[in-house]
Amino acid sequence: MRITEILKSDKPTISFEVFPPKTSDSFSAVEKAVDEIAAMNPSYMSVTYGAGGGTSQYTLDIAREISEKYGVPSLAHLTCVSSSRESVKSRIEDFKAAGIENVLALRGDIPADRINEDRSGWDYHHATELIADLKESGADFCIGGACYPEVHPESSNRSEDIIHLKEKTDAGCEFLTTQMFFDNSLFYAFLSRIREAGINVPVIPGIMPITNANQVARAVKLSGSFMPQRFSSIVDRFGSSPEAMMQAGIAYATDQIIDLFANNINHIHIYSMNKPAVAAAIMRNISEIIK
Ligand code: FAD
Repeated sequence: MRITEILKSDKPTISFEVFPPKTSDSFSAVEKAVDEIAAMNPSYMSVTYGAGGGTSQYTLDIAREISEKYGVPSLAHLTCVSSSRESVKSRIEDFKAAGIENVLALRGDIPADRINEDRSGWDYHHATELIADLKESGADFCIGGACYPEVHPESSNRSEDIIHLKEKTDAGCEFLTTQMFFDNSLFYAFLSRIREAGINVPVIPGIMPITNANQVARAVKLSGSFMPQRFSSIVDRFGSSPEAMMQAGIAYATDQIIDLFANNINHIHIYSMNKPAVAAAIMRNISEIIK
């Protein structure tokens, strides 16, 4: 099922993200997590793509398994920036052959050891170029993309980021998923700004439940997200107790989710990080709301 069809429903829904294994040894552990999360009947499940494409076959295998084995729609991520056009085109052909319907088209992060390279000769510079290749492939993919309520870290300013986001939707991106954020007011302000800029595709907020203190620095470094004082106090007070931090982190994410639903945002994506226990706790907390 196309993600855009799912998003037409005005019933509150939750989707979850999983990431593929880095090696074949951990494939069965990931499959187990996928199995447990799929049993919660989310509206869809997304499968991330390892930077550089080294684990791309696993992304495809897991995305296919989610839809074929569990009957849950899947969204396969695909990145392009550090790959050749030839290898990306061949991956697109694999997606087509495997019957992948939904693709999250991403640029990907610039690998740390290539940041200072002259990129003018690279095959890809932005997600829009990947979207063009997906559109040209002849498959009728439902294409999504990423967006950044707190501005992409490489953007020189907010307006420029929104101009490029509009290019992305004009190129054929049919829905957007946000980077994680911890203050919903930033999301609401972003939504109103992009609507004013004529970006009218559905926007799915991405919520990351922070369930251990070590995740905080990494999440902030990756996303550049603002940590509200209310959340920092939780980490300061409960960070040293794994159980307490887990409970408090899930409660904080639940609070964000309920506020989003209350403000008529019907579809929320959870960065569940292969943790069925976290996904289950959130589903329990909102069971009556999503009934
Ligand atoms: P783009 O849309 O290409 O934007 C990147 C930057 O380029 C922005 O600053 C933008 O303003 C600017 N830009 C865009 N077009 C132009 C232009 N024409 N001229 C000048 N500047 C331009 N990474 C992975 O490796 N695997 C994943 O599975 C993955 N999943 C993700 C899922 C979500 C929901 C999100 C939010 C991020 C994900 N990422 C993933 C991380 C993502 O790859 C990085 O954030 C990356 O730095 C940007 O990717 P993008 O597709 O948003 O890039």
